[in-house]
Amino acid sequence: MSKPFAYISTRGTAPNLGFEDVLLAGLARDGGLYVPEVWPRLTEDEIAAFAGLPFADAAVSVIGRFTGGSIARKDLTRMAHEAYATFGHAAVTPLVQVGPDTFVLELFHGPTLAFKDVAMQLLARLMDHVLEKRNERVTIVGATSGDTGGAAIEAFRGSKRADVVILFPDGRVSDVQRRMMTTPTEANVHAVAIDGTFDDCQALVKAMFNDHGFRDRVHLAGVNSINWARIVAQVTYYFAAATALGAPYRKVAFSVPTGNFGDIFAGYVARRMGLPIADLTIASNANDILPRTVATGVYEMREVVETTSPSMDIQISSNFERYLFEASSRDDAYVRGVMGSLSQSRRFEVGPAVAEHLRRDFSAAAVSEQRVAETIRMVKAQSAYLMDPHTACGYAAAAEARRDGHGVPRVILSTAHPAKFPDAMEETTGERPSLPARLASLMTDAERFERLPNDLAAVQKFVESRARASSEASA
Ligand SMILES: *Cc1c(COP(=O)(O)O)cnc(C)c1O
Repeated sequence: MSKPFAYISTRGTAPNLGFEDVLLAGLARDGGLYVPEVWPRLTEDEIAAFAGLPFADAAVSVIGRFTGGSIARKDLTRMAHEAYATFGHAAVTPLVQVGPDTFVLELFHGPTLAFKDVAMQLLARLMDHVLEKRNERVTIVGATSGDTGGAAIEAFRGSKRADVVILFPDGRVSDVQRRMMTTPTEANVHAVAIDGTFDDCQALVKAMFNDHGFRDRVHLAGVNSINWARIVAQVTYYFAAATALGAPYRKVAFSVPTGNFGDIFAGYVARRMGLPIADLTIASNANDILPRTVATGVYEMREVVETTSPSMDIQISSNFERYLFEASSRDDAYVRGVMGSLSQSRRFEVGPAVAEHLRRDFSAAAVSEQRVAETIRMVKAQSAYLMDPHTACGYAAAAEARRDGHGVPRVILSTAHPAKFPDAMEETTGERPSLPARLASLMTDAERFERLPNDLAAVQKFVESRARASSEASA
């Protein structure tokens, strides 16, 4: 029996799943990532209808295309409105003009001041809804370079159906980021400091998903950007912003501060759905693996460099696998091949056909720490606008790599509030941005977290001890 709207794995050997199962699964059982079997296409009129819609209703319009009807429209509408009511701005993701043809899309008005809230607030509600319907529980395990963890803990705290364990690289996240994970008091959320890098944390999570016995025992679920529902929720703001600037009758370009390639892949999805995006710029910090790949066709890991934009301090961009699948005309043998070579020799060549797609679909630039600081100061001086270091990467990369002609508005995705990185901001501008009033007690609340070595067995043991799903698995 074929499902009405199926998802397939990029590695070709996991079973096809429907939206609800993809939502709960995270990583596919063959190690791949799920993508929809077909990309929904919107007509020009359907795209035009996004202009001026309340953000929650725009989200329902986009996500409704990917659920195959498995989530009732009225439930989806209620969840979207609840999710976006947690934001501190009535427009949810407002556009701010900072130059003649340059706009900043502020994605940081959610509870943890980074764009991750946009997807996570909805994802938590969708997951609880499906688990309630099925009378099931899950254990969510995630890795964070700083922002995903806080967003997940904030979105899931108090959930009756999900326990959450977040691994973060010890000492490599900002105090504000850490406190967003360690101060919530609900018993179902757990922050774990790992003695390692973000890539180590991500590798631990992947290993837990690939241990099928463990995975089934604790009913493992994922909320990293490998989770398809995260990507879909991020597609919404591309439609909202582009139509506010004249799409579909006018092209719009986007520059996206990139780490795990989830946010920019959402832009690629919007384009596949018919949104006329003139250019998508991959903005990297000094960790330049993706700009190097666009330039040379070789994806080659190096050591992670610490920067003032820690959420982009990444060498393995997991969602890039989804793009490789698309650019190879959905050749799962190709994806298995390059991913095998990556885990064996930390590099692969994308090949001539994929390299050509890559250069056509994206421009890319890496931004040095010095450029980041100069950009923050320059935009502040010219437009009285204060941007955080991640956003500054997006701004500088757009200036360097833009290849869209005149008259094409350029949107810089602003992925974090400057107050989330007060030390870097103070060093750059001499001023310490203050947290919004609703976060007043964050820096003084008591913290609670576990410290563990970069060791799979130790982490698995901890997860099992906290997973309520495993104790009732046999009931
Ligand atoms: C997660 C994050 C990014 C990178 O987004 P990806 O989807 O992983 O590419 C950029 N900036 C901030 C502030 C983030 O939290």
